[in-house]
Amino acid sequence: MQHLAISLPFASTLTEQSVSTTFHVEVMNDLETGQPTLVASTYPNQGDLQVVTMEQVGGKASEAHAVIAQGVALAAAYEAATAAPAEAPPTQTAIDLETGDALLFTCMTGCNYPHASDEGTPGFADEVTCVNYDRKNQGVLPIGCGDDSTPGPVLSTLIQVDHFHPDPARRAPYAAVEVFEDHFLEYLDPDALAAVIDHFEERVAAMRVRHAELVRARAEYLGRQA
Ligand SMILES: [Zn+2]
Repeated sequence: MQHLAISLPFASTLTEQSVSTTFHVEVMNDLETGQPTLVASTYPNQGDLQVVTMEQVGGKASEAHAVIAQGVALAAAYEAATAAPAEAPPTQTAIDLETGDALLFTCMTGCNYPHASDEGTPGFADEVTCVNYDRKNQGVLPIGCGDDSTPGPVLSTLIQVDHFHPDPARRAPYAAVEVFEDHFLEYLDPDALAAVIDHFEERVAAMRVRHAELVRARAEYLGRQA
C-alpha cells in the first residue's frame, strides 16, 4: 500500500496513529438448494465471516460508526495541530443595562457573531454571548406544521459562550444543536454533545431500516394493486 506523506513546516504534536474499519454484509446463496444466508464480517480479509441476524448487523454498524467518528476526530486534530496559529481575537465592549458599566470581554476564537450591531446598545450581562454559527449548513428541509411547511436547515451545531453568565458552565464554550429553526438542544458540554450525536446516529441507522421496510411495503402494496 502506498503511504501518502504530507510534509509539515514544523514538527507535529500528534503521534502517528491510524483508524480503520471494515463493514462487510453479504447474502450468500447455497449452491445446491439456493437457500440465502445473511453473513457479515468486520475483518479486512473477511476471516471472521459468520451468519448474522439483521439486529447483529445493526450492532456492527454502530461499532463501525464509532470508529468512523474517531477517524473524523483524528482528521480534525490533524487540522488543528497543523493550522497556522489563530490571530488573537479582538476585545469587545458591551454596556450592562442594569449597572451602566462597560463589560470588557475577549471574543471567542471562531466567533462570527456581529457584535458591532450591539455596540452602544445596553443589554443584560448574562446575554453577552459569542457565537460560532454553523455557516456550512446550507441544505434545507421543508418541515411542516399543519399546512405550513417552512424550508430551513436542520441540525446546525452552534458553539457559544455567555461571558458573564452566573452559571460557570455557560462561561465556557458549549454547543447548541439547532434541531430546526428556533428549536435547540442547548448548553451541551462535549460529553453531552457526544450523547446527542450517538442518539441521532442511532436514529439515522433506524431510519435506514425503515427505508428498506418502506421500499418493501410499497412494492408489496403496489404489486397487489396491479
Ligand atoms: Zn464574539
